[in-house]
Amino acid sequence: MTNVLLGLPGRRPASAAPAGPTSSPSDPLAGTRPTDPRLVDTFGRVATDLRVSLTDKCSLRCTYCMPPEGLDWLPGEQVLNDAEVIRLITIAVQQLGVDEVRFTGGEPLLRRGLEKIVEATAQLRTAGGGAPITALTTNGIGLAKRAAALREAGLNRVNVSLDTLDQARFLQITHRDRLKDVLAGLAAAAEVGLGPIKVNTVLLPGVNDDESVPLLHWAVENGYELRFIEQMPLDAQGAWERSRMVTAEQILTALSGSFDLVPTDPQARGAAPAQTWYVGPDAGPDGVERPRVGIVASVTRPFCGDCDRTRLTADGQIRDCLFARGETDLRDLMRSGADDDQLADVWRTAMWGKQPGHGINDPSFLQPDRPMSAIGG
Ligand code: SAM
Ligand code: SF4
Repeated sequence: MTNVLLGLPGRRPASAAPAGPTSSPSDPLAGTRPTDPRLVDTFGRVATDLRVSLTDKCSLRCTYCMPPEGLDWLPGEQVLNDAEVIRLITIAVQQLGVDEVRFTGGEPLLRRGLEKIVEATAQLRTAGGGAPITALTTNGIGLAKRAAALREAGLNRVNVSLDTLDQARFLQITHRDRLKDVLAGLAAAAEVGLGPIKVNTVLLPGVNDDESVPLLHWAVENGYELRFIEQMPLDAQGAWERSRMVTAEQILTALSGSFDLVPTDPQARGAAPAQTWYVGPDAGPDGVERPRVGIVASVTRPFCGDCDRTRLTADGQIRDCLFARGETDLRDLMRSGADDDQLADVWRTAMWGKQPGHGINDPSFLQPDRPMSAIGG
């Protein structure tokens, strides 16, 4: 098989049927891959942050993500079972240098085995001897009931997505009347110590773009770190338009009218997707922990050069980027009897071919075949 973008064997277009073993001795770049056991790429990046999608299903229908009627969900037999997910995470942590594992989806709280998977992950040890950091990105529905069990299982942190504090708007954006559940989920997460809690917000023009300031007041009052995410071309409907997205610049202008924002140390950002600012009239890096706000400006201020992420989809495909147009199948390889070393090596090869950037701003950019909810955000 040939990778559509790189011309590399061993990777398949995201829409194609999964195939068996995906590494090949004829890979033109394979011979140049160093013996480094980690997930390195040809641009010198090392992927240490694993995003695991546990399901493509969701309890909400955010307009920028999927249509109101939902999507054709993955058939059950194509989805990795709990033991398969745990096996691949174990390989990532023990053989490939991954030290942070974030569970996402779809909506990861819809995965019944979530606590079990978190517990198994938290018991692993990285090369440095510590437990990997475990985190969850969730819409918060059902979190109120499960926060304590997740903490008990070893979960370190949560990011909860919330785009508005207005009930009618919440219904308009998500097609579900569940604002109260999300707020209860956030409160429960704080109560059991799943912090620092981050709140992810996507602003949509004419819908909630007037809420940046009230949302930040609310987040600061409640001790949550608000992070605005620029809307990306990852919706299932393919309706994203550059001219109809709220940019980082616009968000900063709006916030600056009400808050003194002081940039945090850019050196401390590392591979973090969000650029962050201290919030407050006398904010500053003076040793006192200040509230912060972040902006993930994937479209207008891409940060691909520092990317440290590798992704595993719910159906066992490795993606080297959210916007990748190819995937590498580990599920069928695993189910056909491959051992851990083989799986690790195919994973390394998949990441070695990572492109320098997502290319959203290139005229030739094509949206990935799978939407964000199926890839894992
Ligand atoms: N369902 C969970 C949630 O909403 O947090 C996890 C999966 S969701 C795909 C992860 C994050 O992606 C959410 O914060 C969501 O707001 C964001 N997201 C989804 N579609 C997006 C898009 N087209 N552009 C930017 N962010 C998006
Ligand atoms: Fe579901 Fe998250 Fe997509 Fe909203 S953004 S529809 S909560 S997967």
